[in-house]
Amino acid sequence: MLAVGCRVADKPPEVSHPHADHGHSTGADHGHGETVDSAHNDPNPEHHVHEAHEGTTVYRCPMDCESGRSYETPVDCPICGMDTVAMALGEKAHADHSAKHGGLFFMAPDQWHHLEGVMVSDREFRLYLYNNFTKPLPVTALEATADVVRRDAEDDDIGTPESYSLTPSADAAYLRLLLPESYSLPIAIDIRVVFAPGQKRELFNFSFHHVTGRP
Ligand SMILES: [Zn+2]
Ligand SMILES: [Zn+2]
Repeated sequence: MLAVGCRVADKPPEVSHPHADHGHSTGADHGHGETVDSAHNDPNPEHHVHEAHEGTTVYRCPMDCESGRSYETPVDCPICGMDTVAMALGEKAHADHSAKHGGLFFMAPDQWHHLEGVMVSDREFRLYLYNNFTKPLPVTALEATADVVRRDAEDDDIGTPESYSLTPSADAAYLRLLLPESYSLPIAIDIRVVFAPGQKRELFNFSFHHVTGRP
């Protein structure tokens, strides 16, 4: 099944902050204390219960095992055991479909996972994984294979596709495919992904006419 819905066309790279998006979100470092909150002046003690403010950083399982439940501190998900990820409280899912590395951005049919494919050089393809809040996810559970074929100026295949496996980068920030020297752009890369063991394979069609984005 072809994933549709979230594709973002090539965009000129924004200000380059290599790896600025890795690591944990900084979302809302300045939530507390800046906004006027009437509850703080409310003499009724019942209103002083620990209610987090919109914009406060909270932590949630990347698989959303507990349907929206979040924590004030980074804990392991009690259901699946994964590290929770930081996000701003009240942040809307799918609000940000912009590519973080200047590549091509897709939403998976599960409407949870998002993928970005980046051609960082003529021969190196990188695949980044995000959740529905566009927070980076580690690629450790991701299985991906690529069918790769060169194309001519009319976008017709040259020869037949060859299959390759993608391998995780050392920090698990992305999956990587380094193609043999016989490849050059334009190129079509069909990626088949299993997001978690037991899930069905999904197909994403990438095509690159030039090097995109940045690492
Ligand atoms: Zn979980
Ligand atoms: Zn989305």
